[in-house]
Amino acid sequence: MNTFERALAAWGKEPQMLQVIEEMSELTKEILKNINRNKDNVDELVEETADVEIMLEQLKLCYNIVDRVEEYKAAKLKKIDQRLDEWEKQK
Ligand SMILES: [Mg+2]
Repeated sequence: MNTFERALAAWGKEPQMLQVIEEMSELTKEILKNINRNKDNVDELVEETADVEIMLEQLKLCYNIVDRVEEYKAAKLKKIDQRLDEWEKQK
């Protein structure tokens, strides 16, 4: 078992999914501080981004959607690339 699987097994699905929300809100707060209050909080942004990524790994395992997320992400990135190509052409 990797660390994400161990955390899920040890602490349980519901607490870990609530932790996803908590970490996302902490990251949200730091982004808002940075933008609205012009705060120099890059260290906090690093920390909270890592926390969210760690929790998102657990969310994917929890719902058994690792592969589906990967597929959707690849398709989405392709679309974004196409939009960017169009946008760059119009400039
Ligand atoms: Mg955090």
